[in-house]
Amino acid sequence: MVTNTINRIDTTDEVNCCGCLACMAVCPNNAISKTVNERGFIVPTIDDSKCINCGLCLRTCDFKKEHKEPSNNKKAYALIFGDKKVLGKSTSGGAFSALSDVVLRESGFVVGSVMEDDFTVHHVITNDPGYRDRMRGSKYVQSDIHEIFHPIKDLLVKGEKVLFSGTPCQCAALRSFLGQEYDNLIVVDLLCHGVPNNNLFKEHISYLEKYYGKKIVGYSFREKKFGWDSYTNAVRLSNNREKAKWINQAYYSFFVNSVSLRPSCFNCVYRSYHRYSDITIGDFWGYNKIAKKKKNKGVSLVIVHSDKGQRLIEDSAQLAEIYEVEVDKIKKNIQIKSTSTKLSKDAFWKKYQGDGYSGLVHKYFDNSVLKQMRFEVKKIIKKM
Ligand SMILES: Cc1cc2nc3c(=O)[nH]c(=O)nc-3n(C[C@H](O)[C@H](O)[C@H](O)COP(=O)(O)OP(=O)(O)OC[C@H]3O[C@@H](n4cnc5c(N)ncnc54)[C@H](O)[C@@H]3O)c2cc1C
Repeated sequence: MVTNTINRIDTTDEVNCCGCLACMAVCPNNAISKTVNERGFIVPTIDDSKCINCGLCLRTCDFKKEHKEPSNNKKAYALIFGDKKVLGKSTSGGAFSALSDVVLRESGFVVGSVMEDDFTVHHVITNDPGYRDRMRGSKYVQSDIHEIFHPIKDLLVKGEKVLFSGTPCQCAALRSFLGQEYDNLIVVDLLCHGVPNNNLFKEHISYLEKYYGKKIVGYSFREKKFGWDSYTNAVRLSNNREKAKWINQAYYSFFVNSVSLRPSCFNCVYRSYHRYSDITIGDFWGYNKIAKKKKNKGVSLVIVHSDKGQRLIEDSAQLAEIYEVEVDKIKKNIQIKSTSTKLSKDAFWKKYQGDGYSGLVHKYFDNSVLKQMRFEVKKIIKKM
């Protein structure tokens, strides 16, 4: 039984835990396990009878570390993937596909987030291009990475090339877990607004299944058919029909209004120009103005932080149109400040714990006929 609790992570400190579970992966005595709390967020739990108080979890937790000053040696690019079908399935301009294609062609491995048939979102590793395709598209849900730390390390030690993609906290967690630099590892992080949890998303799915009276077999958070910037959440029903009604947007509205985000996202230490990655990717809003283009199917913003990242972006030029842009022009695309919300998070979660997901929809989502009509009209205009 351990009495000294100073030398280990504080599992009650939600604001300073991003739920990466690097602590669990690094624990030499398997004393840390994954728990999902009453609001659905992944948190570590320590088994006192197994904890040897070695302090490794605390030393590995990157969220609480001092962070370096941002580096200024950056280059920024706009990227548009060449294959229109791939571009249509990518959230932005298909930067992830371009970068990961290069790694797969060199017989490397790609690590990224997939959504399973039961809507579980987690990270997987593959060297199969078909399976990699399932990583395409943003899932605005925390992707569980706890199972991939050790397999990634094994591959790196064997000398295999690995591209890891994820949110900035996931990238920092991986680097901290590895504890050393690997020349064969490329880290690609996303510009990140923050993450809601998987349970809330699954409840959204159940809510919509009741609404449509059918099983949902597919979900897209950013259906591009209605425009790159339309943020349309589309579902595929078991009768193979696609529905993109206003009600689908409920979960997304909680996400963009930030009220459903993980508590640590409000205290994010990675929202800066300094990154734990070789490359950062995101939506390149405003690119049309810079390039004086009228319309497009999405543009990726690519920010390069290292020589390794620079080589990869140069190699991906065979697959995509790539234009260098002045770093000053991209500053407004990078969220520097922590997320905040005008809504009361306490009241939101209290409602959820009292009345469930439908209670949230009733209280926080404007499902008025006017809203629905405006959404439908916008969709028609965008499609035209
Ligand atoms: C939770 C979240 C918040 C984001 N917030 C912003 C933002 O505020 N501003 C902005 O410009 N861009 C944001 N992005 C990034 C943007 O939505 C695109 O993912 C990014 O531009 C890559 O698009 P793409 O066209 O290159 O490729 P895509 O094929 O669309 O990208 C897929 C990539 O995203 C990764 N991914 C998908 N879902 C997750 C997840 N849940 N967790 C970790 N990795 C995931 C995949 O592993 C893969 O690497 C966010 C992404 C996520 C997942």
